[in-house]
Amino acid sequence: MQEFSSNLDSMVKCPVCTKKYGKRDSLVLESTQRRSILHFTCKSCQMASLMFFSQQQDKIIGMGVLTDLSRLEIDKILNQEVVSANQILAVYNFFKNNK
Ligand SMILES: [Zn+2]
Repeated sequence: MQEFSSNLDSMVKCPVCTKKYGKRDSLVLESTQRRSILHFTCKSCQMASLMFFSQQQDKIIGMGVLTDLSRLEIDKILNQEVVSANQILAVYNFFKNNK
């Protein structure tokens, strides 16, 4: 979906002011063969949004949500370490043993 992702920015409009996004307005946060997550910042009204795209056979499904997270903040959040099963067990055991 790499090529698909690089063309999305020209197809998507700002949900607030409906101005078309340019190439520099987008940041690809995640892109696999079947789905992409992009962050857009509108040059015109400065509103930021997250867009989720999923490709199923010949159909592309898209959904967008407004966010107050900047592209740097969202990139940091998505790259945070995932909680491991051992960490969850440690928390469970902590509460189990400290009743
Ligand atoms: Zn806008």
